[in-house]
Amino acid sequence: MAELIRHDLVIVGGGAAGLRAAIAAVEADPDITVALVSKVYPMRSHTVSAEGGAAAVAREDDSLEMHAYDTVKGSDFLGDQDVIQYFVEQAPRELTQLEHWGCPWSRNEDGTVSTRAFGGMTTKRTWYATDKVGFHLLHSLFQASMQFDRIVRYDEIFVSKLLVDGGVCRGVAGLEVRTGEMKAIVGGAVILTTGGAGKAWPFTTNGNIKTGDGMALAYREGVPLKDMEFVQYHPTGLPGTGILITEATRGEGGYLINSDGERFLTTRDYGVGSKAELGPRDMISRAIVQEIAAGRGIEGAHGQFVHLDLRHLGEEKIDTRLPFVRLLGRTYVGVDPVHEPIPIRPVLHYMMGGVDTDIDGATDLPGLYAAGEVACVSMNGANRLGSNSLTECLVFGARSGQHALGFVKGSDAGSDAALSAQADEEGGRLEALRGKKGSETIAGLRQELHDTMEAGMGVYREQGGMAKTVQDVQQLKARYADLGLADQSKVFNTELVAALELRNLLDVAEANSIAGLQRKESRGAHACSDYPTRNDAEYLHHSLVYFNEGGEGRYDKKDVTLGRWEPEERKY
Ligand SMILES: Cc1cc2nc3c(=O)[nH]c(=O)nc-3n(C[C@H](O)[C@H](O)[C@H](O)COP(=O)(O)OP(=O)(O)OC[C@H]3O[C@@H](n4cnc5c(N)ncnc54)[C@H](O)[C@@H]3O)c2cc1C
Repeated sequence: MAELIRHDLVIVGGGAAGLRAAIAAVEADPDITVALVSKVYPMRSHTVSAEGGAAAVAREDDSLEMHAYDTVKGSDFLGDQDVIQYFVEQAPRELTQLEHWGCPWSRNEDGTVSTRAFGGMTTKRTWYATDKVGFHLLHSLFQASMQFDRIVRYDEIFVSKLLVDGGVCRGVAGLEVRTGEMKAIVGGAVILTTGGAGKAWPFTTNGNIKTGDGMALAYREGVPLKDMEFVQYHPTGLPGTGILITEATRGEGGYLINSDGERFLTTRDYGVGSKAELGPRDMISRAIVQEIAAGRGIEGAHGQFVHLDLRHLGEEKIDTRLPFVRLLGRTYVGVDPVHEPIPIRPVLHYMMGGVDTDIDGATDLPGLYAAGEVACVSMNGANRLGSNSLTECLVFGARSGQHALGFVKGSDAGSDAALSAQADEEGGRLEALRGKKGSETIAGLRQELHDTMEAGMGVYREQGGMAKTVQDVQQLKARYADLGLADQSKVFNTELVAALELRNLLDVAEANSIAGLQRKESRGAHACSDYPTRNDAEYLHHSLVYFNEGGEGRYDKKDVTLGRWEPEERKY
């Protein structure tokens, strides 16, 4: 029988949301211990790669109301307004707290925190630490977490199953990658903070570890995934690698230009008005795709692109505000932005959808919480504004930590025998997968998944393409049963991990394509060519997809929480 490792609370994920949740929980109660389980060492979480900044009201010309309105409008009125209100209220406190934990926010001459402009925001409200924000933010959180020996880390454990007993989520089963052993880590509640799922697409800014694991774990236990059709394309990725060139480049005054050298966001009507390059990401990504379709792209080794021009900013500004961008340009495309424009094209970046939670991070499964990019607490709706995500991880990470702790106090421990038996069963399943004989390969299935996701679920979608992706994903899921693995070893069997990740990506892709096909309108990042306008009469609702063992996921709807802002035409 698997030995149970017991703590009061189990958190899966060591990125911004996970670390913040852990700190909030141990600060709220001096007697509890928290297990922090992560498939990579926490500093390798995707949060580390964030470049541009984190949003919170800081300036006198700004207000909580303006931040809330920008977020509601950015979401194309699909964000829940109670959630957004709470978010903007907590945001300044969280970023100040982070400073007290050592985050070196960039400063103005007078010593106050400097803020920069970001897309879809009315004023400068994005806090930054040059253009290496994720590194500094995650490092500060990681160091703060180390003050507490009651946060007990389990690094490089790949969680593959939630342990549910008596209808309550009470822990996780995970593969210890170093040894190949199955671990059962249990507690009064579990918080998923496992991040996004960009790796279901071929061209993405996301690190290889972003495979939607937490979404799939919750989904398979009957928790619906919400608003999965809304995935964000960031306008400025480097062709070939998909490496992100931060929106801060445009915040600092960069332009987008086409093959004629024309600043098309100012000369043509793409709905962004005078915001131009500081329009929201969904609109700017579409504008670039249209420019290329109209023959005004530039041909390169990795297809068509347009240019991001920073030359007019000058070397000094680039070196003080955007040093990382200069390094990335030189290293990955051989372009020094001080002297030449950078080739860019839209790249898959972020999941607005995720595990359906309420404002406390609670899911429909008692004892299971989620926060950060894995969750859909519903503040981003149909389109997230850049720099809201890091702050979201902090605000709702903290809140979920506190509320999960409340749940722990009211719950019993569950049956050790039942939890241990489930972990054994999961261990057996992984054992059978390791070195399994079969005719399909991980690389082959993943390639086909990428092809169908790019074809059906790109910047623009159409009904025929989405219907085909729904079918393709179902077939890929069926073929997964015939997967063959070559590596028999127990120690660091990365092939086994890749097989588990592929299964998770297939579940995420299923929910994404099903939700996309059902939404017969265009809203935010879901631009459906057959239905080019927003249709509030029929589609002002969240979408839910439920797992259906052996069949296609089941679609349902959920009300949007409106508030002081009624939906209006989204124009900038
Ligand atoms: C290149 C890039 C730049 C960005 N820049 C910005 C920005 O400037 N501003 C902004 O607001 N947002 C930005 N974003 C988005 C933002 O960084 C992310 O949404 C956010 O960091 C997600 O944090 P998280 O804590 O939810 O997850 P992550 O940081 O992705 O962490 C996930 C954690 O879960 C663990 N995990 C996952 N699966 C398992 C499993 N099966 N078992 C065990 N552990 C698991 C991982 O080990 C990891 O520790 C950027 C994103 C990218 C990709």
